Amino acid sequence: MTITPERTDNDVTQELRLVTDVPGPRSQALLARKTDAVSAGVGVTLPVFITRAGGGILVDVDDNHLIDFGSGIAVTTVGNGNPEVVAGVTKQISEFTHTCFMVTPYEGYVQVCEALNRLTPGDHEKRSALFNSGAEAIENAVKIARCYTGRQAVVVLEHGYHGRTNLTMGMTAKSMPYKHNFGPFAPEIYRVPASYPFRDGPHGGAEVAQWATTRIEKEIGARNVAAIVIEPVQGEGGFIVPAPGYLSAMSEFATANGIVFIADEIQSGFCRTGQWFACEHDGVVPDLITTAKGIAGGMPLAAVTGRAEMMDSVHAGGLGGTYGGNPVACAAALGAISWMEQNDAPALALEVEAVMMPRLKAMAENHPTIGDIRGRGAMIAIELVKPGTMEPDPERAAALNKYCHSHGVVTLTTGTYGNVFRFLPPLTMPKHLLEAGLTILENAFEATA
Ligand SMILES: *Cc1c(COP(=O)(O)O)cnc(C)c1O
Repeated sequence: MTITPERTDNDVTQELRLVTDVPGPRSQALLARKTDAVSAGVGVTLPVFITRAGGGILVDVDDNHLIDFGSGIAVTTVGNGNPEVVAGVTKQISEFTHTCFMVTPYEGYVQVCEALNRLTPGDHEKRSALFNSGAEAIENAVKIARCYTGRQAVVVLEHGYHGRTNLTMGMTAKSMPYKHNFGPFAPEIYRVPASYPFRDGPHGGAEVAQWATTRIEKEIGARNVAAIVIEPVQGEGGFIVPAPGYLSAMSEFATANGIVFIADEIQSGFCRTGQWFACEHDGVVPDLITTAKGIAGGMPLAAVTGRAEMMDSVHAGGLGGTYGGNPVACAAALGAISWMEQNDAPALALEVEAVMMPRLKAMAENHPTIGDIRGRGAMIAIELVKPGTMEPDPERAAALNKYCHSHGVVTLTTGTYGNVFRFLPPLTMPKHLLEAGLTILENAFEATA
């Protein structure tokens, strides 16, 4: 891994250091102000207020140095304060901050689109369009697919997550907290079976795909379907890696029926899984691909990239937005992409996997609550069950999370059943920190047994 204790981004010492309880007194005072000022609907996983971050460490207002196993939900893949991102942003911000690309364009937007067209799977001719958030990219991918096909239905998967706007809430599977009380949702969204190897028993990827495509044919009618939208590794659903054969069967079905196959790589893309894009593990070339999160080192940017004939089927003015492809965010993306290319970021993600997997497997030997260990690269999760059963154990996940937080490791839970513990470290995390975080997790299993 690239960062050593001596060399840190943003001058952050690369060691775990707790000088108060977590959260400390200053964070608690800020949390009280947050409660008075911020909508209660905006929840917080771990209420430590951050003042600085870099490498694999978050520093809070009480000067605690915490190990970051979340990367702001898979966003700071290149690390906080990555020098190339900082240099690009600083230069751009000193030149101009906004013109609106749809009014008077600038080169950075075009450069990001060129990079996306070059890096995404497939050597067909491509075009891209830039937006601000993942949900907005998904909304636009659906717009493009509907416009191109002249069809309306959108097929999504069980356990899928696509965002919090009205359309993307409807496309998301999980009710609480994402959809509860927020309906009605957009029409013409259909959910079909996803491959979930841990819970599918003997049924392999091709068989589950068969259930899904039969459902599409019988209940929707393949000719009515504009798009099938799939996360190649499901994120909020619980880091579910589909069984071999599932993605390729779904993609082939889409192609055979004139359906646009959309890979939502918002969480799994940009080197997170040990490939530039997770669908490459399955050799699948999507028609459209949505990206966000890891694309711009923490600046808000998202994109839809895909086949030129699909992307160009939309009338001029049909896509866009005031801020989409903001020049500062584009400069950040160009810095992040350059760093990923120069540092072979997919290999760094595989190094994370090589450290984590054996440690987690050793923990599973001693702790039968670990029902499954899965994921790819630096996108790894464990699913917790009541020992000897398939019954989810979200209470254990919550207890482990609490232990890790109070011992200075920023961890996240996820999953349809809330029983998945997920790891998304930045690729700039030094190995000794990764190991230290895993040791605390190991202690957490002992302490919560
Ligand atoms: C986070 C996420 C989204 C939504 O992105 P936002 O930027 O939060 O709108 C969509 N799809 C997937 C797979 C995600 O992980």
